[in-house]
Amino acid sequence: MNKKVPFLDLRLNTSERKELLSVIDAVLAHGRIVLGPEVQELEKQIADYCGRKFAVGVGSGTDAIFLGLKSLGIGPGDEVITTSLSWIATANAIALTGATPVFADICDDLNIDPESVRTLVGPRTKAILPVHFTGKVCKMPDLIKLADEYKLLLIEDAAQAFGATLHGRRAGSFGEIACFSMNQMKIFGSCGDAGVVVTDREDIQRKLIALRHNGMVDRTECIEVSLNGRIDTIHAAILLHRLPQVEEIIAKRREIAGWYDERLAGLVELPVQQEGERDIHFSYQIRTDRRDALMAFLSEKGIETQIQHPVLMPQQAAYKAGVRSTFPNAEKMVKRILCLPNNEKLSLEDIDYVSDSIKTFFGAQ
Ligand SMILES: *Cc1c(COP(=O)(O)O)cnc(C)c1O
Repeated sequence: MNKKVPFLDLRLNTSERKELLSVIDAVLAHGRIVLGPEVQELEKQIADYCGRKFAVGVGSGTDAIFLGLKSLGIGPGDEVITTSLSWIATANAIALTGATPVFADICDDLNIDPESVRTLVGPRTKAILPVHFTGKVCKMPDLIKLADEYKLLLIEDAAQAFGATLHGRRAGSFGEIACFSMNQMKIFGSCGDAGVVVTDREDIQRKLIALRHNGMVDRTECIEVSLNGRIDTIHAAILLHRLPQVEEIIAKRREIAGWYDERLAGLVELPVQQEGERDIHFSYQIRTDRRDALMAFLSEKGIETQIQHPVLMPQQAAYKAGVRSTFPNAEKMVKRILCLPNNEKLSLEDIDYVSDSIKTFFGAQ
Protein backbone atom coordinates (compact mmCIF):
# COMPACT_ATOMS: atom_id res chain seq x y z
CA MET A 1 0.00 0.00 0.00
CA ASN A 2 1.23 3.45 -0.88
CA LYS A 3 2.08 5.92 1.79
CA LYS A 4 2.57 9.63 1.15
CA VAL A 5 5.98 11.08 1.90
CA PRO A 6 5.91 14.83 1.29
CA PHE A 7 9.10 16.65 0.37
CA LEU A 8 8.20 19.48 2.69
CA ASP A 9 5.18 20.09 4.89
CA LEU A 10 4.70 23.70 5.95
CA ARG A 11 1.55 23.12 7.97
CA LEU A 12 1.86 23.88 11.66
CA ASN A 13 0.27 21.83 14.39
CA THR A 14 -2.24 23.32 16.82
CA SER A 15 0.23 24.22 19.54
CA GLU A 16 2.71 25.77 17.09
CA ARG A 17 -0.09 27.86 15.60
CA LYS A 18 -1.20 29.01 19.02
CA GLU A 19 2.34 30.01 19.96
CA LEU A 20 2.91 31.93 16.74
CA LEU A 21 -0.43 33.71 17.01
CA SER A 22 0.56 35.00 20.41
CA VAL A 23 3.97 36.07 19.05
CA ILE A 24 2.23 38.02 16.27
CA ASP A 25 -0.35 39.36 18.70
CA ALA A 26 2.42 40.87 20.84
CA VAL A 27 3.72 42.81 17.81
CA LEU A 28 0.24 44.00 16.88
CA ALA A 29 -0.30 45.13 20.46
CA HIS A 30 2.87 47.23 20.72
CA GLY A 31 2.25 48.57 17.24
CA ARG A 32 5.83 49.15 16.16
CA ILE A 33 5.18 47.28 12.95
CA VAL A 34 8.09 48.67 10.94
CA LEU A 35 11.59 47.94 12.30
CA GLY A 36 10.17 47.28 15.76
CA PRO A 37 12.22 46.12 18.75
CA GLU A 38 12.11 42.46 17.65
CA VAL A 39 14.18 43.38 14.58
CA GLN A 40 17.07 44.71 16.66
CA GLU A 41 16.86 41.80 19.05
CA LEU A 42 16.93 39.30 16.18
CA GLU A 43 19.87 41.13 14.60
CA LYS A 44 21.75 40.96 17.88
CA GLN A 45 21.06 37.25 18.38
CA ILE A 46 21.99 36.30 14.82
CA ALA A 47 25.20 38.32 14.94
CA ASP A 48 26.08 36.51 18.21
CA TYR A 49 25.15 33.13 16.75
CA CYS A 50 27.46 33.68 13.77
CA GLY A 51 30.22 35.24 15.85
CA ARG A 52 29.91 38.55 13.99
CA LYS A 53 29.67 42.14 15.18
CA PHE A 54 26.59 43.14 13.18
CA ALA A 55 23.52 41.74 11.49
CA VAL A 56 21.04 43.68 9.38
CA GLY A 57 17.57 42.27 8.73
CA VAL A 58 16.31 42.54 5.16
CA GLY A 59 13.29 41.45 3.17
CA SER A 60 14.65 38.19 1.75
CA GLY A 61 17.77 36.20 0.99
CA THR A 62 17.80 37.74 -2.48
CA ASP A 63 17.73 41.22 -0.89
CA ALA A 64 20.53 40.15 1.44
CA ILE A 65 22.84 39.27 -1.47
CA PHE A 66 21.80 42.21 -3.66
CA LEU A 67 22.05 44.83 -0.90
CA GLY A 68 25.15 43.16 0.53
CA LEU A 69 26.97 43.44 -2.81
CA LYS A 70 25.82 47.05 -3.18
CA SER A 71 27.05 47.87 0.32
CA LEU A 72 30.52 46.75 -0.79
CA GLY A 73 30.37 49.00 -3.83
CA ILE A 74 30.03 46.20 -6.37
CA GLY A 75 28.29 47.27 -9.56
CA PRO A 76 28.62 47.84 -13.31
CA GLY A 77 31.99 46.82 -14.76
CA ASP A 78 32.71 44.37 -11.94
CA GLU A 79 32.77 40.61 -12.16
CA VAL A 80 31.69 38.34 -9.32
CA ILE A 81 32.74 34.69 -9.48
CA THR A 82 30.07 32.35 -8.19
CA THR A 83 29.07 28.71 -8.54
CA SER A 84 27.10 27.32 -11.46
CA LEU A 85 24.76 25.22 -9.30
CA SER A 86 22.52 27.22 -6.98
CA TRP A 87 19.06 28.65 -6.70
CA ILE A 88 18.88 31.36 -9.39
CA ALA A 89 18.59 34.13 -6.78
CA THR A 90 22.38 33.98 -6.35
CA ALA A 91 23.05 34.97 -9.98
CA ASN A 92 20.14 37.39 -10.13
CA ALA A 93 21.30 39.31 -7.06
CA ILE A 94 24.72 39.77 -8.67
CA ALA A 95 23.31 40.78 -12.07
CA LEU A 96 20.85 43.25 -10.52
CA THR A 97 23.76 45.29 -9.12
CA GLY A 98 24.96 45.74 -12.71
CA ALA A 99 27.93 43.43 -12.12
CA THR A 100 28.50 40.30 -14.22
CA PRO A 101 28.23 36.85 -12.62
CA VAL A 102 31.03 34.52 -13.77
CA PHE A 103 30.19 30.89 -13.24
CA ALA A 104 32.72 28.46 -11.79
CA ASP A 105 32.58 24.67 -11.85
CA ILE A 106 31.70 22.57 -8.82
CA CYS A 107 33.35 19.74 -6.89
CA ASP A 108 31.69 16.37 -6.34
CA ASP A 109 30.23 17.74 -3.09
CA LEU A 110 28.21 20.16 -5.28
CA ASN A 111 30.00 23.20 -3.87
CA ILE A 112 32.13 25.67 -5.83
CA ASP A 113 35.56 24.36 -6.93
CA PRO A 114 38.33 26.73 -5.77
CA GLU A 115 40.57 25.53 -8.61
CA SER A 116 37.96 26.55 -11.14
CA VAL A 117 37.62 29.93 -9.40
CA ARG A 118 41.35 30.49 -9.79
CA THR A 119 41.16 30.07 -13.57
CA LEU A 120 38.39 32.68 -13.80
CA VAL A 121 40.04 35.53 -11.90
CA GLY A 122 40.67 38.46 -14.24
CA PRO A 123 41.28 42.20 -14.14
CA ARG A 124 37.60 42.97 -13.51
CA THR A 125 37.06 40.38 -10.79
CA LYS A 126 35.92 42.09 -7.61
CA ALA A 127 34.56 39.28 -5.47
CA ILE A 128 34.05 35.57 -4.97
CA LEU A 129 30.56 34.53 -3.93
CA PRO A 130 30.48 30.88 -2.82
CA VAL A 131 27.17 29.23 -1.95
CA HIS A 132 27.11 26.76 0.94
CA PHE A 133 24.89 24.53 -1.16
CA THR A 134 22.73 21.82 0.47
CA GLY A 135 23.81 23.14 3.88
CA LYS A 136 27.49 22.21 3.54
CA VAL A 137 30.12 24.89 4.09
CA CYS A 138 32.36 25.42 1.02
CA LYS A 139 36.12 24.89 1.02
CA MET A 140 36.59 28.20 2.80
CA PRO A 141 40.32 27.93 3.65
CA ASP A 142 41.10 27.61 -0.09
CA LEU A 143 38.71 30.41 -1.02
CA ILE A 144 40.10 32.72 1.67
CA LYS A 145 43.59 32.07 0.34
CA LEU A 146 42.46 32.92 -3.19
CA ALA A 147 40.69 36.08 -2.04
CA ASP A 148 43.82 37.19 -0.17
CA GLU A 149 46.11 36.37 -3.07
CA TYR A 150 44.10 38.33 -5.64
CA LYS A 151 42.73 41.01 -3.25
CA LEU A 152 39.12 39.99 -3.79
CA LEU A 153 36.12 40.38 -1.53
CA LEU A 154 34.63 37.17 -0.20
CA ILE A 155 30.85 37.07 0.20
CA GLU A 156 29.03 34.01 1.51
CA ASP A 157 25.64 32.97 0.22
CA ALA A 158 24.77 31.08 3.39
CA ALA A 159 21.05 30.93 2.58
CA GLN A 160 20.97 27.14 2.95
CA ALA A 161 23.50 26.80 5.72
CA PHE A 162 22.37 28.51 8.93
CA GLY A 163 24.08 26.50 11.69
CA ALA A 164 26.44 24.52 9.42
CA THR A 165 30.09 24.52 10.50
CA LEU A 166 33.54 23.76 9.11
CA HIS A 167 36.21 22.92 11.71
CA GLY A 168 33.92 24.45 14.32
CA ARG A 169 33.44 27.72 12.45
CA ARG A 170 29.89 28.61 11.50
CA ALA A 171 28.63 29.44 8.03
CA GLY A 172 28.38 33.21 7.93
CA SER A 173 31.59 33.77 9.88
CA PHE A 174 34.05 33.64 6.97
CA GLY A 175 33.30 36.38 4.45
CA GLU A 176 33.50 40.17 4.43
CA ILE A 177 29.75 39.76 4.58
CA ALA A 178 27.48 36.73 4.64
CA CYS A 179 23.89 36.49 3.48
CA PHE A 180 21.10 34.38 4.92
CA SER A 181 17.59 33.64 3.74
CA MET A 182 14.95 32.98 6.35
CA ASN A 183 12.16 32.11 3.95
CA GLN A 184 9.68 29.43 4.98
CA MET A 185 11.59 26.66 3.22
CA LYS A 186 14.88 27.18 4.97
CA ILE A 187 15.79 25.24 8.11
CA PHE A 188 15.64 28.46 10.14
CA GLY A 189 12.73 30.17 8.47
CA SER A 190 9.75 32.41 9.08
CA CYS A 191 6.25 32.18 7.60
CA GLY A 192 7.15 34.17 4.51
CA ASP A 193 10.14 36.08 3.19
CA ALA A 194 12.97 37.37 5.35
CA GLY A 195 16.76 37.61 5.21
CA VAL A 196 19.82 38.85 7.09
CA VAL A 197 23.29 40.15 6.22
CA VAL A 198 26.07 39.72 8.79
CA THR A 199 29.40 41.53 8.89
CA ASP A 200 32.08 42.82 11.26
CA ARG A 201 32.30 46.19 9.52
CA GLU A 202 30.37 49.08 11.03
CA ASP A 203 30.50 51.13 7.81
CA ILE A 204 28.83 48.24 5.97
CA GLN A 205 26.20 47.88 8.67
CA ARG A 206 25.36 51.58 8.42
CA LYS A 207 25.24 51.44 4.65
CA LEU A 208 22.93 48.43 4.73
CA ILE A 209 20.54 50.17 7.08
CA ALA A 210 20.21 52.94 4.47
CA LEU A 211 20.10 50.58 1.48
CA ARG A 212 17.25 48.50 2.90
CA HIS A 213 15.19 51.70 3.14
CA ASN A 214 15.46 53.13 -0.37
CA GLY A 215 18.95 54.43 0.34
CA MET A 216 17.60 56.92 2.90
CA VAL A 217 19.54 58.30 5.85
CA ASP A 218 17.66 60.10 8.62
CA ARG A 219 14.50 59.92 6.50
CA THR A 220 15.64 62.95 4.52
CA GLU A 221 18.71 62.19 2.47
CA CYS A 222 18.96 59.55 -0.23
CA ILE A 223 22.62 58.50 -0.47
CA GLU A 224 22.24 55.78 -3.09
CA VAL A 225 19.57 54.37 -5.41
CA SER A 226 18.05 51.35 -3.70
CA LEU A 227 14.80 49.58 -2.92
CA ASN A 228 12.54 48.83 0.01
CA GLY A 229 14.08 45.70 1.47
CA ARG A 230 13.34 45.82 5.18
CA ILE A 231 12.57 42.77 7.29
CA ASP A 232 9.05 42.83 8.76
CA THR A 233 8.82 43.03 12.53
CA ILE A 234 6.36 40.13 12.51
CA HIS A 235 8.90 37.94 10.74
CA ALA A 236 11.62 39.03 13.15
CA ALA A 237 9.35 38.09 16.06
CA ILE A 238 8.60 34.67 14.56
CA LEU A 239 12.31 34.06 13.92
CA LEU A 240 13.24 35.09 17.46
CA HIS A 241 10.70 32.60 18.72
CA ARG A 242 12.12 29.86 16.48
CA LEU A 243 15.83 30.48 16.97
CA PRO A 244 16.07 28.36 20.16
CA GLN A 245 14.56 25.43 18.23
CA VAL A 246 17.11 25.49 15.40
CA GLU A 247 19.63 23.10 16.97
CA GLU A 248 16.93 20.49 17.48
CA ILE A 249 15.83 20.75 13.85
CA ILE A 250 19.42 20.45 12.66
CA ALA A 251 19.92 17.39 14.87
CA LYS A 252 16.81 15.79 13.35
CA ARG A 253 17.97 16.57 9.79
CA ARG A 254 21.34 15.04 10.58
CA GLU A 255 19.69 11.98 12.08
CA ILE A 256 17.57 11.51 8.95
CA ALA A 257 20.68 11.88 6.77
CA GLY A 258 22.33 9.16 8.87
CA TRP A 259 19.33 6.85 8.36
CA TYR A 260 19.52 7.34 4.60
CA ASP A 261 23.32 6.89 4.63
CA GLU A 262 23.00 3.48 6.29
CA ARG A 263 20.16 2.25 4.12
CA LEU A 264 21.30 3.49 0.72
CA ALA A 265 25.04 2.80 0.84
CA GLY A 266 26.17 1.01 -2.31
CA LEU A 267 22.96 1.76 -4.24
CA VAL A 268 23.41 5.40 -5.13
CA GLU A 269 26.08 8.05 -4.53
CA LEU A 270 25.45 9.67 -1.18
CA PRO A 271 26.34 13.07 0.28
CA VAL A 272 29.77 12.81 1.88
CA GLN A 273 30.90 14.65 4.98
CA GLN A 274 34.62 15.23 5.15
CA GLU A 275 36.59 15.57 8.37
CA GLY A 276 35.58 18.79 10.13
CA GLU A 277 32.35 19.33 8.21
CA ARG A 278 29.05 19.55 10.04
CA ASP A 279 26.35 19.69 7.36
CA ILE A 280 22.83 20.75 8.24
CA HIS A 281 21.25 18.98 5.23
CA PHE A 282 19.04 21.72 3.89
CA SER A 283 18.72 19.15 1.13
CA TYR A 284 19.78 15.49 1.03
CA GLN A 285 21.06 15.02 -2.50
CA ILE A 286 21.79 11.59 -3.89
CA ARG A 287 23.27 10.96 -7.34
CA THR A 288 22.52 8.26 -9.87
CA ASP A 289 22.65 7.81 -13.64
CA ARG A 290 19.04 6.61 -13.50
CA ARG A 291 17.80 9.80 -11.81
CA ASP A 292 14.74 10.51 -13.98
CA ALA A 293 13.46 6.93 -13.87
CA LEU A 294 14.02 6.77 -10.11
CA MET A 295 12.18 10.05 -9.60
CA ALA A 296 9.18 8.79 -11.60
CA PHE A 297 9.20 5.47 -9.74
CA LEU A 298 9.25 7.18 -6.34
CA SER A 299 6.50 9.53 -7.41
CA GLU A 300 4.30 6.51 -8.19
CA LYS A 301 5.03 5.27 -4.67
CA GLY A 302 3.75 8.56 -3.24
CA ILE A 303 7.26 9.84 -2.48
CA GLU A 304 7.88 13.43 -3.43
CA THR A 305 11.42 14.22 -4.57
CA GLN A 306 12.89 17.35 -6.16
CA ILE A 307 15.74 18.30 -8.45
CA GLN A 308 17.61 21.25 -6.98
CA HIS A 309 18.18 22.54 -9.57
CA PRO A 310 17.41 21.02 -12.96
CA VAL A 311 19.02 23.86 -14.94
CA LEU A 312 22.44 25.31 -14.09
CA MET A 313 22.34 29.08 -13.57
CA PRO A 314 24.62 29.80 -16.56
CA GLN A 315 22.36 27.70 -18.78
CA GLN A 316 19.24 29.66 -17.94
CA ALA A 317 17.82 31.74 -20.79
CA ALA A 318 18.53 34.92 -18.84
CA TYR A 319 22.29 34.16 -18.67
CA LYS A 320 23.20 31.74 -21.46
CA ALA A 321 24.23 34.29 -24.05
CA GLY A 322 26.83 36.04 -21.91
CA VAL A 323 28.55 32.98 -20.43
CA ARG A 324 32.22 32.38 -21.31
CA SER A 325 33.29 29.90 -18.62
CA THR A 326 32.94 26.12 -18.68
CA PHE A 327 31.70 23.88 -15.89
CA PRO A 328 31.97 20.27 -17.07
CA ASN A 329 31.52 18.67 -13.65
CA ALA A 330 28.39 20.73 -12.94
CA GLU A 331 26.96 19.66 -16.31
CA LYS A 332 27.55 16.03 -15.39
CA MET A 333 26.17 16.39 -11.85
CA VAL A 334 23.03 18.29 -12.75
CA LYS A 335 21.73 15.30 -14.73
CA ARG A 336 22.27 12.95 -11.80
CA ILE A 337 21.19 14.80 -8.64
CA LEU A 338 17.99 14.12 -6.74
CA CYS A 339 16.81 15.47 -3.38
CA LEU A 340 15.08 12.93 -1.17
CA PRO A 341 12.47 14.05 1.38
CA ASN A 342 14.44 14.98 4.52
CA ASN A 343 12.25 17.39 6.43
CA GLU A 344 12.26 17.11 10.20
CA LYS A 345 8.64 15.94 10.36
CA LEU A 346 9.52 12.60 8.79
CA SER A 347 9.72 9.44 10.88
CA LEU A 348 12.05 6.45 10.71
CA GLU A 349 9.14 4.61 9.10
CA ASP A 350 9.01 7.22 6.31
CA ILE A 351 12.75 6.90 5.71
CA ASP A 352 12.46 3.10 5.67
CA TYR A 353 9.67 3.36 3.11
CA VAL A 354 11.70 5.71 0.88
CA SER A 355 14.82 3.56 1.23
CA ASP A 356 12.96 0.29 0.56
CA SER A 357 11.37 1.84 -2.51
CA ILE A 358 14.81 2.85 -3.80
CA LYS A 359 16.07 -0.68 -3.13
CA THR A 360 13.12 -2.09 -5.06
CA PHE A 361 13.84 0.25 -7.96
CA PHE A 362 17.41 -1.00 -8.19
CA GLY A 363 16.28 -4.60 -7.82
CA ALA A 364 18.20 -4.92 -4.58
CA GLN A 365 15.28 -6.36 -2.66
C1 LIG B 1 16.78 30.56 -0.75
C2 LIG B 1 18.04 30.96 -1.40
C3 LIG B 1 18.31 32.29 -1.80
C4 LIG B 1 17.29 33.36 -1.82
O1 LIG B 1 16.58 33.54 -0.67
P1 LIG B 1 15.11 34.15 -0.71
O2 LIG B 1 14.87 34.44 0.72
O3 LIG B 1 14.21 33.12 -1.26
O4 LIG B 1 15.14 35.39 -1.53
C5 LIG B 1 19.57 32.58 -2.29
N1 LIG B 1 20.51 31.64 -2.41
C6 LIG B 1 20.30 30.37 -2.07
C7 LIG B 1 21.40 29.37 -2.20
C8 LIG B 1 19.05 29.98 -1.57
O5 LIG B 1 18.83 28.69 -1.26
